[in-house]
Amino acid sequence: MDEKQAREKIDRLTKTVLYHSKRYYDQDEPEIEDYEYDLLLHELISLEEAYPQFAHEDSPTKRVAGQVKNTFDPVEHKVQMGSLQDVFSSEEVFAFHERVKEQIENPVYVVEPKIDGLSVSLEYRDGLFVRGSTRGDGFVGEDVTLNLKTIESIPKRLKEPVPFLEVRGEVYMSQESFQKLTEEQEIREEKPFKNPRNAAAGSLRQKDPAIAAQRNLDIFVFNIQRIEGKTLSGHKQALDYLCHQGFPVSPSYRSFDSMEAVVEEIHRIGENREQYSFGIDGAVIKVDSFEQRERLGSTAKYPKWAIAYKYPPEEKPTVLLDIQINVGRTGVLTPTAVFEPITLAGTTVSRAVLHNQAFIDEKKIAVGDTILVRKAGDIIPEVIGVQDHDPQRPVYQIPDVCPACGSPVFFEGDQAAKRCQNSDCPAQILRNLVHFASRDAMDIDGLGPSIVENLVSAGLVKSPADLYDLTLEELSDLERLAEKSGSNLLSAIEKSKGNDLSRLLFALGIRGIGQKAAKLLSVRFLDIEKLFAATEEEIASIDGFGGIMAQAVAEYFSLVATRDLVDRLKKAGVNTLSLSLPVGDRLAGRTFVLTGTLPNLTRAEAGAMIEEQGGKVSSSVSKKTSYVVAGEEAGSKLTKAQKLGVPVIDEGGLLALLKGEAFLG
Ligand code: NAD
Repeated sequence: MDEKQAREKIDRLTKTVLYHSKRYYDQDEPEIEDYEYDLLLHELISLEEAYPQFAHEDSPTKRVAGQVKNTFDPVEHKVQMGSLQDVFSSEEVFAFHERVKEQIENPVYVVEPKIDGLSVSLEYRDGLFVRGSTRGDGFVGEDVTLNLKTIESIPKRLKEPVPFLEVRGEVYMSQESFQKLTEEQEIREEKPFKNPRNAAAGSLRQKDPAIAAQRNLDIFVFNIQRIEGKTLSGHKQALDYLCHQGFPVSPSYRSFDSMEAVVEEIHRIGENREQYSFGIDGAVIKVDSFEQRERLGSTAKYPKWAIAYKYPPEEKPTVLLDIQINVGRTGVLTPTAVFEPITLAGTTVSRAVLHNQAFIDEKKIAVGDTILVRKAGDIIPEVIGVQDHDPQRPVYQIPDVCPACGSPVFFEGDQAAKRCQNSDCPAQILRNLVHFASRDAMDIDGLGPSIVENLVSAGLVKSPADLYDLTLEELSDLERLAEKSGSNLLSAIEKSKGNDLSRLLFALGIRGIGQKAAKLLSVRFLDIEKLFAATEEEIASIDGFGGIMAQAVAEYFSLVATRDLVDRLKKAGVNTLSLSLPVGDRLAGRTFVLTGTLPNLTRAEAGAMIEEQGGKVSSSVSKKTSYVVAGEEAGSKLTKAQKLGVPVIDEGGLLALLKGEAFLG
């Protein structure tokens, strides 16, 4: 390669890597696999080393790419949280050893699995967990203490307190929790996370710690960043010490004084990685001695005393036997590839989602083709392309009629999916009922997909309201349902009548309305009847509501079928009120405006609490406003309040008013 070609290649690669880095970090929409990204970055590093004169100032090889969002307080890392230099072959591991040996005689290495999660720092003062933060750009991260506190395995108190300790660890989501979350997201027709790592990152950066708590996150700690009151000389000793202090430490860490043994260990971890319940994307090789690490130093992005060996994702060819169509709760037709079973990352797989027609067209997929399948993030099988396509075979077309009810299906607006619009479609009825009964909706214990299927095919249930008319006699006639389970099911159905309005709204399965939106609707309107009367504008004025969501809600409540369903539910005794109706009148006659980010409460929660005490919440400041409650980054509303002389209070002030601990002005 001559200089001109090298320069062009560096320019091109820099652009490509920056593009993918932006897709990944800023837009949460990676287009390529992590392994492919790592290879591109690696190529750029090698070229920049050979031609440093062409390296760009903003090259992604020079900095850690994480972003800090202003949702959380910034935390400055006293010890930089760097990344690791990736290698992909044993030769490169030996080359690393040669570099180390230039400065260190007989180095000893520790090899650990590289957990595929996100990096955090945990700080302990006098033995107590006081602060936790994300890596961010390596120098400044985000304060996610409250979310980290929900992770059970993080010790909140050290066994043997020291004046100060900061450790670094990797927060991850187990494959089981990820699978469960994906299934729940599928039921709710939410966009699922791409892999456990994205899911862990998304969960840890939730504003509401209750959501993080539900996500079953876990952690492995793999480094001491700073310590006072204890002297340690090496990494293995430090990890032993962390175990003793009660931390879940790297699942395996062994030390070696020969490179052959290091490489053997890398392969051993690679071969065993399927046995772990969490994702491992590589092995980390670290110099053990702290004094030697000090001598080796770091670049702006990586330590020079460690490397990460990355394992390639497993992919295999197989024959596409069939494409089946699944009809979702809202009528969306989803094609699924059914192929000759293959073993990938330790499990046998035979199906993978094909998303939509555009995906099938792009990859030119036809039944009978040999397709290439891999497990992304070691978990969800994914069709990556066609290895062998016979041009005689036509590319698969999603049918024009619904396979469940025979009604014509349409592309709706500019959406990529075809949808069956027949509200009597049995596939939709089934999924609607399963969703209605699911844990986050009406939480009807024992009413899973197979019982629902039985009830539907016996002609006992079609609409959720039919559930409330079921009798023990009807249930005892059902196959696979013992008498005891029948009466348990009836009590679970009975119990669901007392649910809060937010659960019912979520259970109704209004398009685009997830749990959070249902809660917002319930807090704002308090009574389902008010939703029948609400205009689209009123609904859209809820903080956190988009125009499309408001339109879907308004449309749903304008349907005659909705009126009938709600009437029947009410008649059966199902609660249709928010259980957070006013419980006091401490704030009666006062109008509040909420602005900025409050430290603990979301605006919806603060608004609901004000309304519970008879106060009103308005979205604009005027002379009539009693108080403006301002949080961080309050903008023009705060300025206007100051101009008009409206009293401004913070979250603490609001809580004092709510509890009657402060006097109303
Ligand atoms: P990295 O994830 O490859 O490696 C560094 C990280 O490994 C550290 O931050 C540390 O938290 C973690 N780690 C896990 N176990 C460890 C252990 N035992 N010891 C030490 N560290 C351990 O690199 P990165 O810079 O942190 O993140 C970049 C990641 O994002 C890569 O996996 C990359 O593929 C991915 N990415 C993907 C795309 C895409 O388009 N697919 C784009 C950008 C980045």
